[in-house]
Amino acid sequence: MVRYFNYTRSVVTGGAGFLGSHLVDHLLSQGHDVVCVDNLLTGSKNNIRHLANHNRLAFEFLRHDVTQPLDIQADEIYNLACPASPPQYQHNPVRTLKTSILRALNVLDLARISNARVLQASTSEVYGDPSIHPQPESYWGNVNPIGIRSCYDEGKRAAETLFMDYRRQFGLDTKLVRIFNTYGPRMNVNDGRVISNFIVQALRGEDITIYGDGLQTRSFCYVSDLIEVIYLAMQTEPEFGDPINIGNPNEFTMIELAEKVISKIGGKSKTVFMSLPQDDPKQRQPDISLAKSKLNWEPKVNLDDGLDETIHYFRKAISN
Ligand code: NAD
Ligand code: UDP
Repeated sequence: MVRYFNYTRSVVTGGAGFLGSHLVDHLLSQGHDVVCVDNLLTGSKNNIRHLANHNRLAFEFLRHDVTQPLDIQADEIYNLACPASPPQYQHNPVRTLKTSILRALNVLDLARISNARVLQASTSEVYGDPSIHPQPESYWGNVNPIGIRSCYDEGKRAAETLFMDYRRQFGLDTKLVRIFNTYGPRMNVNDGRVISNFIVQALRGEDITIYGDGLQTRSFCYVSDLIEVIYLAMQTEPEFGDPINIGNPNEFTMIELAEKVISKIGGKSKTVFMSLPQDDPKQRQPDISLAKSKLNWEPKVNLDDGLDETIHYFRKAISN
């Protein structure tokens, strides 16, 4: 169905963050008009500074907290606003849970009023510490409802419920993507997630902090692959609203990751082992069969190439 004549007006909440700013760039490159909504909690104006001279009719920045209602004209809404790094979302857990639920309600209500389609950036964390491996979308997860990760996990799970209920109750065109660990340029130097930590530590010649025994696994997706598939997910037919796993299934232990980073950067860093945070998932790997069949997508960038790009970015970022 062709829904729009000349252009699509896309709203990206969290558009000054790591993923959001890359999505904004992609949408502009596809000819969309974009409104970037962000309160700069974990994002930065630096991520969108290159758009300062962009055609003002096509790009707008709105400093706004999405726990407050939004009043913007929109054809489609990408809902990314939420701290995503464990230390950052655990810093103020009440705010994290509030952000997840209220932002979902606010964007869903905006989508209803504007008759817009709306996509939720959900997460592999809805699977918690998974007992099924790899994780298919049909797995309901293993989440501790009262632990230190719950503010994020349960917030994202509740948001998924809201998206499905607005679809069933109001016939809204909703999309759910479950994002697995993604990395790349524009991550914050102080983000706290493993790839940025290891790279920044190695570049500064500091010890590489491995939590636990380092045998826990994650599967890392490079940002360009992820942005491509988020965009494709939004294009699916209005009748389709099932959750889709998106990520790169190549799985690594944290020891393997540390070794890769050290071998690429060199220097005097050595690994040190620190205590494992509570409820840290032991393994994580997306089953991306649905993304492959439904969206004809699979990731292209391997970890070595993605790390090279990311190291290049952080080298510049920490020298500024
Ligand atoms: P990020 O912290 O870089 O970006 C989040 C953005 O949201 C920031 O710009 C922040 O300022 C903004 N924000 C936070 N609270 C807000 C509020 N109340 N009002 C307005 N803006 C607010 O993180 P990211 O990695 O870019 O993650 C983006 C989204 O993708 C998040 O929803 C996250 O849960 C989801 N996600 C990311 C990953 C990943 O590996 N990067 C994995 C799973 C899910
Ligand atoms: N981790 C680590 N050292 C760090 C940061 C994280 O060993 O400096 C581990 C963390 O315990 C987890 C994995 O790396 O097992 C991925 O952590 P991250 O915070 O990037 O994302 P998560 O998948 O846990 O949300």
